[in-house]
Amino acid sequence: MGPASGGAVSSRAAMAQGTPARKRVVIVGAGFGGLAAARALRHARVSVILIDRSNHHLFQPLLYQVATCSLSPGQIGWPIRQIFRRQPNAAVAMGEVTAVEKERRLVFVSTVDRQDVPVEYDYLILATGVRHNYFGHKEFEKFAPGLKTLADAVAIRNRILTAFEQAEAEEDPARHKDLLTFVFVGAGPTGVELAAALAVMVRSTLKSEFRRIDPTSAHIILVDIADRVLGAFSPLLSLAAEARLRSLGVDVRLAHGAEQIDESGIVVDGQRIAARTVIWTAGVEPSPAGKWLGAETDRAGRVRVEPDLTLPGHPEIYVIGDTAFLEQDGKPLPGVAQVAMQQGRYAGAAVERKLRALPPAPPFRYFDKGSMAVVGNNFAVLQTRRLQLRGRFAWLIWAAIHLEFLARSNLRVSVFVQWVWTYLTGQRGSRLIVAHHETASGFTNRSMTVTVAQSDRNEFEKPMTA
Ligand SMILES: Cc1cc2nc3c(=O)[nH]c(=O)nc-3n(C[C@H](O)[C@H](O)[C@H](O)COP(=O)(O)OP(=O)(O)OC[C@H]3O[C@@H](n4cnc5c(N)ncnc54)[C@H](O)[C@@H]3O)c2cc1C
Repeated sequence: MGPASGGAVSSRAAMAQGTPARKRVVIVGAGFGGLAAARALRHARVSVILIDRSNHHLFQPLLYQVATCSLSPGQIGWPIRQIFRRQPNAAVAMGEVTAVEKERRLVFVSTVDRQDVPVEYDYLILATGVRHNYFGHKEFEKFAPGLKTLADAVAIRNRILTAFEQAEAEEDPARHKDLLTFVFVGAGPTGVELAAALAVMVRSTLKSEFRRIDPTSAHIILVDIADRVLGAFSPLLSLAAEARLRSLGVDVRLAHGAEQIDESGIVVDGQRIAARTVIWTAGVEPSPAGKWLGAETDRAGRVRVEPDLTLPGHPEIYVIGDTAFLEQDGKPLPGVAQVAMQQGRYAGAAVERKLRALPPAPPFRYFDKGSMAVVGNNFAVLQTRRLQLRGRFAWLIWAAIHLEFLARSNLRVSVFVQWVWTYLTGQRGSRLIVAHHETASGFTNRSMTVTVAQSDRNEFEKPMTA
């Protein structure tokens, strides 16, 4: 990895030449944390560069609805450029960060056709989230995809719908059983929400559409090594959610881990379950931010940060959201959207205070607004410090809050209309099996090269000239 190009006009170089330049804040990750940080800096006299490997911000809590055909990808993801089109101090760059050099204040970014382009920063905010964790069984990934990105959701949707199509076409009824067996490994919110949504889908949307198979005969199994579903909720709410799952026809198997997953199914507690569709909803691990920084991490690999969310010894580096580890009142903060958003706002405001030479903000403190999980139609569980709710009322609150947190009002309307339509008719928004081609045509042109051309390797935010 070479040094920053001599031709680059970084903010530090400009200062050295006597040109008044804005300090540069590089934010890596446009998820909940990174987005909140960039927005918090909207009035600051800084130059923000927001780098993400995808071109969209994703509302992950509704991913399961894309995987189970209720919503289409465009209803829960928005182009990052569009979000920041009215924030002139922010530039967006699509690329994958591969390394950080703390001493020279550089992040290295790989784009489609350029490797490890150095980008200078004065302040760095890392908000790179998590990825799937197969707990030492990487070989499971091929057979049991996880749910983290829009591509994952569409791949799972394809698998589920294809299984029904294959079963309908299959002459041998003996083979219907494994085609119509769906196993979800991990009974946290994602596994519970997916299993319940699929159970609802087979009993409503798919029920009358097939002629040779009975979709309601699908066997939906939810497996977890823990002894209750939704382990982060109170035992009472876990029990309520489990009862609801069972009433929807989900076969809940607790206190049993996945021992083997291969093309023909899964082995749970020594028993092989023949299944063509196994989905991994069991765990996540943080992004490699800890490795990039050479930082102290917790056992899971999350970066241990100071109470002001900075890296120890580096007040110019913030690590926030799922990839950071911070305890509050003796307990680690959970990996949820609210933590990431509140930390993003805090980090953005803290950088601005430093730039304006204001006294430092008090340590970060998370305000817990509560947790929710939905279990099919008309039922959710909701837990706050003071309140525990389950049933239809909790479900209505869940729906209202999720609509509220969608980033754009046109999507709020579109998702609301879709939900009402699906609720009343059982028809789903996006039931397409879409097989994507391997090549990313149109992206292999030189557009990214122009963005990070040799003479401007550092200037993601610089306007392009002919
Ligand atoms: C299926 C699912 C359902 C969930 N449901 C809920 C829920 O109901 N309620 C709740 O509170 N939380 C929920 N969560 C958790 C919540 O989404 C996360 O806690 C939150 O997204 C964390 O925000 P973040 O900014 O740390 O990371 P993310 O939002 O994950 O954002 C990370 C960003 O970094 C980018 N990135 C990663 N690595 C790189 C790199 N090397 N270079 C460039 N860019 C990179 C990614 O593309 C991504 O845009 C759910 C998560 C999932 C996966």
